[in-house]
Parts: sequence; C-alpha cells; structure tokens
Amino acid sequence: MSSADPVLSLLRPEILALTPYSSARKESSGGRVWLDANENPQTPSAGRPLHNRYPEPQPPDLIARLAGYYGVAAVNLLVTRGSDEGIDLLLRAFCRAEHDSILITPPTYGMYAVSAAIQNARVVIVPLVVGDNFTLNPDAILAACSPAVKLVFLCSPNNPTGALLDRTTVLRLVVALRGRAVVVVDEAYLEFAGTPSLTAELAANPNLVVLRTLSKAFGLAGVRCGVTIANPALIGVLQKIIAPYPVPTPVLQAALTALSPEGLVAARISVQGLVAERKRLAAALAKLPVVRRVWPSDSNFLLFEVTDSARVMAATRAAGVVLRDRSRDHGLANCVRITMGTPEENNAALEIIARV
Ligand code: PMP
Repeated sequence: MSSADPVLSLLRPEILALTPYSSARKESSGGRVWLDANENPQTPSAGRPLHNRYPEPQPPDLIARLAGYYGVAAVNLLVTRGSDEGIDLLLRAFCRAEHDSILITPPTYGMYAVSAAIQNARVVIVPLVVGDNFTLNPDAILAACSPAVKLVFLCSPNNPTGALLDRTTVLRLVVALRGRAVVVVDEAYLEFAGTPSLTAELAANPNLVVLRTLSKAFGLAGVRCGVTIANPALIGVLQKIIAPYPVPTPVLQAALTALSPEGLVAARISVQGLVAERKRLAAALAKLPVVRRVWPSDSNFLLFEVTDSARVMAATRAAGVVLRDRSRDHGLANCVRITMGTPEENNAALEIIARV
C-alpha cells in the first residue's frame, strides 16, 4: 500500500498506520477445542442454535453470496451493520476532525451529515438543481471540492427525492476527482430502479465506493446488514477500523437465507410488486386535489408536494398512518414522502390524503 495511491493518500495518516485489533477468530483456525477467546462453552439460556462463539469477522459464505449478487469479487466487499455503518467508517477513515470535509448534495439522505458531525468533519453543500427533477450540478461540485473535501456522497436513487442520478454525470465526477476525493455512491434503493449498479466501474475507478444494503429490496431492515463495495486496498483499511465482529450469527443466518436462490427470487417478486404499487400510487396521488406534484421515483417511495403539508401530516397522523414530512429539507417546501407499503396500507393512506 503506497501513500502515492490515489485513494490511500487521502486517508487519515493515523488510520493508514493503525495496527488493528487482532480478534480471536482472525488468529485461530482449524481448532478442535476452543479455549482461546474467553467464550462460554455453552449458551445456557438456549439449546439450539448456540450463540456462544464469536462469529467470523467477515463470514466467507456470506461474502461469497454477496459477491455473486453484486457481481464483484470477494475482496471488494465489506459487510457492515447496515450501510449506515459503512458511511460512518468512511468518515472516520478519511476525515480528520476540524480539518477535512465531506460534500453532500441536498436534499439527500441525512446520515452523511450526521456521521460528519459525529466525526467533527465539515460539510460542504452543493444542492441538487430542482428543475423538472433533482439533478446534480457537476461544475459546482467540482468547484467546491477543495483539498479538504475527502468524500463526496451521492445517493442514487436519491432519498428523499426518489430518482436516479444521471450515471454519466456521476462517472464524470468520479474521473475528475481521482486523486482528489472518493466518490461514494449510495445505491440503497437500486433494485427498485432496475438499472445496472456502478460497481461495474470499480475496476477502472479506484476512488469509487458503492454502498448497498439488504434493508430495502430484501426487506431485512431489522437485520442490519449493509455492504461497502470498493477497491481491495480500501476494503482492507475499512476492515482495520470496523468493530471486531460486525456480523452477528443471527444476522448471518437471515442474510444467507435472503441470498439463497429462493430468497433472490422472492426479493425480485417483492420488488416487482412494490414498483407496481409505486406506479399505481403515483397516478392516484396525482389526481388528488391537495396534491400539486408527484416527483418521478426509481425507489420504493414517492415524494409529493401538497398544498399544505402540515394538514396532510396531521390528518394522516390522526388516522395512525405515519408518513415522512420532508418540508424542511432543502427545496422541499410542502413535500411529503410516502414509502410503499402493502396495497391495503397504501389505500388507507390514499383515502386519508384524498379527504384533506
Ligand atoms: N442510504 C440511504 C439512502 C437510506 O435511505 C438508508 C436508510 N433509510 C440507508 C442508507 C441506511 O440503510 P441501512 O443502514 O439500513 O442499510
């Protein structure tokens, strides 16, 4: 790992130099009697499955299935506690407190700025251009990328606006920022877009990182399983700073089931159903008097503008239907976000909004 490397040279020097904790499961293999890790020989509360052993730091069978699903090599992957942990790890790896910055393009996912605040990194803001849809402003982004900007977070499809970012523009930014900053493309909702991942561009672009998750298309938000996909040297660095055993055994089991051949088919069918609901709901919402505009979506949610978001939020809340008020986000006055639920749940929401 040379510090002249276009990505490694951007890391915090102390992270590059860090000697990581060497966990028991990393050091030992092929044992018969396990007396090395201060575990209990049993799980007294339960018969089976036993959870008395620390899990593999990065379980090879899960990594293999994820590599197959995302179309990358095992060395390109890090499994994290949700993709939120991937965001946090990147901040901690690249941003020195009070010195370095991330760049975000609001309205976008809130955790980039929160993780930056936790790390005491600065946040440079280059808003999306509202127009007909929310598009990147690549010239403004490049102009704002001073040497202090180490990470550029792009979310595609973007939360909360819903649509994909233009792939050519994203790639133009990745190429232009090579050696200057890492571009993190958060593809949490990509399955609902049905378009190819940017992972295909990884080999040619060492400063590209892609975030994926099992929380959305696989319906495993409760399991907390996210994936950071990047060049092997960067994955190696993130492995040094992630907590020793980030993939609990029950998470591993749930994720393996989701990524089995049957699980993949079930996820595809679920995504098709949610996309059909998205189309139906977009058309139905657009007809309601209170709705001014429904933004195009490639995700499992819709952003819509109403005449008075406070009234819509109050009416739905009173009926026990919880939507997300986005009206305080950049450029989103009177905008509300609705996640695709079951057809019955969506109808319940529609009926209430229709009566506002
Ligand atoms: N990225 C985006 C764009 C999200 O909307 C979310 C969750 N709402 C996440 C990442 C985090 O997902 P998780 O930690 O569940 O993988």
